[in-house]
Parts: sequence; C-alpha cells; structure tokens
Amino acid sequence: MSDAELIVVGGGPVGLATAIEARRAGIDALVVEPREGVIDKACGEGIMPGAIPALSRLGVARTHGSPIAGIDYRDPRRSVSHRFAGGPGLGMRRTVLHAALLERAAELGVRWRHARVTRVDAGGDLATVWTDDDATVRADWLVAADGLHSPVARSVGLALPELRARRRFGQRRHFGVAPWTDLVEVYWTPAGELYVTPLAGEVGVALLAPRGVRFADALAASGELAERLDGADATSELRGAGPFRQRTRARSRGRVLLAGDASGYVDALTAEGLRIGFDQARLAVEAIRAGDPAGYERAWAHSTRDFRVLTSRLVRVASSPLRGAVVPTAATLPGRFAAAVERIAR
Ligand SMILES: Cc1cc2nc3c(=O)[nH]c(=O)nc-3n(C[C@H](O)[C@H](O)[C@H](O)COP(=O)(O)OP(=O)(O)OC[C@H]3O[C@@H](n4cnc5c(N)ncnc54)[C@H](O)[C@@H]3O)c2cc1C
Repeated sequence: MSDAELIVVGGGPVGLATAIEARRAGIDALVVEPREGVIDKACGEGIMPGAIPALSRLGVARTHGSPIAGIDYRDPRRSVSHRFAGGPGLGMRRTVLHAALLERAAELGVRWRHARVTRVDAGGDLATVWTDDDATVRADWLVAADGLHSPVARSVGLALPELRARRRFGQRRHFGVAPWTDLVEVYWTPAGELYVTPLAGEVGVALLAPRGVRFADALAASGELAERLDGADATSELRGAGPFRQRTRARSRGRVLLAGDASGYVDALTAEGLRIGFDQARLAVEAIRAGDPAGYERAWAHSTRDFRVLTSRLVRVASSPLRGAVVPTAATLPGRFAAAVERIAR
C-alpha cells in the first residue's frame, strides 16, 4: 500500500515544479523537505527566455521579476553584448520565485512533510523513503530534486564520484542600487566571473570561481563594477554553493527519477539550471504518467544536451590560460557570440 502516488524529495524550485506538474496531471504529490517556508539559495537569479513558458505553466507571473534583455560579456578593455532575439528572460529573487511556487503548490493541493530523507529503496513495486523523524513513507514513484549533492542519488547508487579537476564554486550577494542596464553583465576577471543580474530595485552579484576566492576580494578587484557598487548597502547575506560539477550514472532506477541539480550539473556559467530543471520536472511527470522511466532518460538527454556540451566547453576555456581571450574573441566574432547566447536562451 502506498502513502502517495508521487513523493518529491526536495522542495526547491525543481521539486515544487515537479509537484505542481504532477497535480496538473491529476497525480497526488507529497513533497518531503526539511526546511519550512520560503527558501533562499545562492543563485544568479537569471531565468533564461526559454524558461518563460514553463513559468507560466507553473503559475509564476512575469510581474514577479524584471526583464532581462540579453547578455553582456565585459573585461577592463571592452564589452560585447547580444540582445535575445525572441523576447526577454527574467531576473527574479530566489525568495520571490520560491514564494510564488509555494503558493501555486498549495492552491493545487500538494501535500508536505517537513523531514530530511535519510535513505531510499528504489526496488520493487514501490519506492520506500526513510526520514530523520523515524518514519517510513512509500510511493508508486519518487522524484529526487534534492539538489547538487543529492542524498537520494547517492542512496540509490546513481551518483558518480566527484571529479577533482576544475572544481568551481558559486557565491552570491545583493546590493541596494537601481539596475543600470537590462542586460546580465558578466565581468570576466582574473579571479572568476562576476555575474550582475538586474532585479526589482537592486542587483544580484554572483561570483563563479575556484575554491578559495573571496567574494569581497573579487569584487574589489573588478574595476568598473566595484565603482558602481561603491557605497551601496548589501541587501542580503553572502551565500555559497558547490562544487558545481556533479555527475550521475543514469537518471532513473526502479521507481526513482532524478530531476534538477540532483540529476547532474555542469556549472552556473550559462545560467541554465532553472530552465532545464523546470523542463525536467515536466518530463519526469510525463514519464510517470506513461509508466516509462526509460523514456525519461531519453528526454533528459535531449533536454540537457546543449547545457552539457556548451557549458562544459566554456568551463574548460574559463579554467585554462585561454580565459583572458574569452571576451576579446567574443568581441572579434560578435556573430558567433550572438549565436551562442541564442542557444543558451532557447
Ligand atoms: C552561484 C550560483 C549562480 C547560479 N545562477 C543561476 C542563474 O542565473 N540561472 C539559473 O537558471 N540557475 C542558476 N544557478 C543554478 C540554480 O540555482 C540551480 O540549478 C537550481 O537551484 C536547482 O534547483 P533544485 O530544486 O534542483 O535544487 P535546490 O534549489 O538546491 O533545492 C534542493 C532542495 O532539496 C532539499 N534537500 C536536500 N537534501 C534533502 C534531503 N535529504 N531530504 C529532503 N530534502 C532535501 C534542500 O533543502 C533544498 O530545498 C546558479 C547556481 C549557483 C550556485
């Protein structure tokens, strides 16, 4: 006897998107997440244009965010930008996004259990979950959306060992200055990439860099950006996440499917985590409806191909002595830069 048709482990954006998609499909969904209320997390908070239809499906209004018109790569000597051809993306505070998803999930009758999952058994006709409050819960299907270092992926033997090479981490903080552009600016500094996302009445700054780079030092050395933020109040605490690169050997085992960062992640350099995570939420629910986890594997591979290939290539260059050539090359070949941005935007 199962306790739910679907258990979703993790109540971050992808877990909530999965539960919302499930309810839209008439499936009973129980989210298991230890944290209560609105959850904040280190994120660049840029939602690419390709995710806008998913946001509408999930009931998150565009008015929750600020339009993002394109991407601007900068170094101290030059900048090169491209405006999205097919309409803007959105800059949206994580807390605003999470609150909107929580509200929609509640409207649709998603059930909650505030507990941490400690172990999962994917075998047999049901998925079985053990939680840190000594309960055992069973479901016909389980979607693990429990983030970058997914305990469920490890528990069911789907996580691969971490690669030690090119390990990169993310940090983010907000500053109370009015956005000066509708582009996401990416400052390519020797220490790492500083992403500036326009938000409502403030900007978010995310640093992507190897271990040990201090956010304050990277910002202080960023020249033009440091001048813009000089004297501005920080409007959030510093948060970090990583290492980014996580691999899985497959995206399902038995009755368990992996979605979002839990299914494997490359890097935040192309700001695609939410777009592909929302896509995976929809694809996982379609596979569950069809009783076809193998179909999810194929759909996942198709949905993430560009992210895996393009982002890996860019990270390789960013982690090599060639990183200083990224902005000059993009400026010399604006057509190639525009084409790459359009692929990320899809
Ligand atoms: C610095 C940085 C910048 C980024 N910039 C962007 C960007 O601009 N655009 C973009 O699209 N993406 C960006 N990303 C990536 C994006 O943040 C992630 O892809 C996204 O958060 C993935 O959502 P998720 O729901 O899969 O995981 P998470 O948001 O990590 O949520 C996982 C949830 O699982 C819960 N959980 C964990 N363990 C357990 C357990 N044992 N039991 C139950 N629950 C558990 C956690 O409490 C958490 O709530 C960035 C990431 C970083 C770090």
